[in-house]
Amino acid sequence: MTAEMSVLGHSEALGVRPGRLYVGGAWSDASDGAVADQVNPATNEVVTTFAVGSAADVDRAVRSARRAFDEGPWPRLHAGDRKAILQRLVGLIERDGAQLDALQCLENGMPISFSSLPVLSASMAAGIFDHHAGWIDKLCGETYPSYGPSPTGNDVQMMSVREPVGVVAAITPWNAPLMLFAQKAAPALAAGCTIVMKPSELAVLTALRLTELIEEAGIPPGVFNLVPGPGDPTGEALINHPMVDKVTFTGSRAVGRHILSVAGEAASAPEGIWGGGLKRVTLELGGKSPSLIFSDATSVETAGQIAMGMVALGISGQGCVCQTRALVERSVYDTFIEAALSLAGSVVQGDPFDPATTAGPIISARQLAKVVGYIEGADAAGARRLCGGERPGGALAQGNFVTPALFADVDNAMTVAREEVFGPVLVAIPFDDESDAVRIANDSDYGLGAGVYTASIGRGFRVARALRAGTVGINDYTVMPNAPFGGYKTSGLGREGGWAGIEAFTELKTIVVGLGD
Ligand code: NAD
Repeated sequence: MTAEMSVLGHSEALGVRPGRLYVGGAWSDASDGAVADQVNPATNEVVTTFAVGSAADVDRAVRSARRAFDEGPWPRLHAGDRKAILQRLVGLIERDGAQLDALQCLENGMPISFSSLPVLSASMAAGIFDHHAGWIDKLCGETYPSYGPSPTGNDVQMMSVREPVGVVAAITPWNAPLMLFAQKAAPALAAGCTIVMKPSELAVLTALRLTELIEEAGIPPGVFNLVPGPGDPTGEALINHPMVDKVTFTGSRAVGRHILSVAGEAASAPEGIWGGGLKRVTLELGGKSPSLIFSDATSVETAGQIAMGMVALGISGQGCVCQTRALVERSVYDTFIEAALSLAGSVVQGDPFDPATTAGPIISARQLAKVVGYIEGADAAGARRLCGGERPGGALAQGNFVTPALFADVDNAMTVAREEVFGPVLVAIPFDDESDAVRIANDSDYGLGAGVYTASIGRGFRVARALRAGTVGINDYTVMPNAPFGGYKTSGLGREGGWAGIEAFTELKTIVVGLGD
């Protein structure tokens, strides 16, 4: 490692230019000329700038999406035609996959070795668009027989049809930008909705490039609009806009709660024909997910490495699904700790574009201070820190790095076991038996994911059924485009992926046909 580290050469090689707004099929600056910096967190260098959408820009974008929905071709296209356009987009994402993976590395510091992993890469985004394109010609309703005579005394034939929900406001975080862009845009576009997307102000590069590909694929003007900017004013203007029918949000619980309350407020557009409030909402929020490691696991060592790896490698614990509480049966606790420590010791932090780098920085100096605060708080509360929690020196001091921390003998009531740290911090909690493990696992306000490590099929299923979490992995864990993903409890509302994901972008209309004269 040299004393200096720079990612600016990659920015140039990737052709990065200042980002602009994409509204109504045209690129423009912000109405008030405002711009913000896109910073790479591994070096804290300014990679480029991007236009920050004002409330006026958001209004222009929503009106453009509204027009495209009410009058444009997109919701009215033949299923086969809409499908062909989305499949063209899949091909373009695959064509530019390596560039998109590198842009993701440049925008949020994710090591290139992780940015190109199937679950986080452009290939995952392409898979999500491909999966949802497949639903377009299968968005069917049902028919129902007359349950009895109607008030006119006649029989009726009833049927349901699926229609797009309307104008969608999509708001994403910075930690898995390629995948999360697709999780929002793919089902909305497939269902026939129009969109105004606001990516995180901390990572805009892949959103800008994917928008160019959406344009290249031939999606009509106004159907997809991109308005980068911070939560306030850009996000606020979007979630409060009366012409928005649905908000789909991935991010923190605090912002999710706020969106839910705003979505329920009465709201009328000046024209008086839209809104009334009560926007539809999908929320993908945070987690404090447990992994439960039983003494009969095929390999406690492997389970220990996976548990530590989830917080120490790649995006350094800044993933909603990271299993940050390791609940370990007492008889194998020492073996687990040894394996977790050995994984933590093998982590290579460094230049995100170096293929040998295995762990990236914390996204911002502000988030780094928060992570360090949690670590110091855990020390003060009496948790035993076995490794990590240090700021590395040399070239790494330039970025927002912190070494992965393992806390042993943690009480589940401690703050570090209850709150989402969003950094490389694993807490280990011993348990006595299966019911003890399930009780501790469920003793959380969150319920996003969980892992169970056991060689017993019966125990694996039994525990998976008992856990209050949206996804439970038995001896493995992943996210795939065709399976639902989402949270129990305060981890969210609704699901993305699979049928549940696209269904959430539709309204179900019942049509009653009188069979009398
Ligand atoms: P965040 O809530 O701070 O920001 C998320 C997005 O919301 C950003 O685009 C931000 O600009 C916007 N925003 C902030 N305030 C807003 C407001 N008042 N109105 C409208 N928009 C607003 O979250 P973050 O720090 O970007 O991301 C980390 C969080 O995301 C973690 O809690 C993590 O668990 C969660 N997350 C969840 C999933 C999931 O699928 N469940 C996936 C990834 C991340």
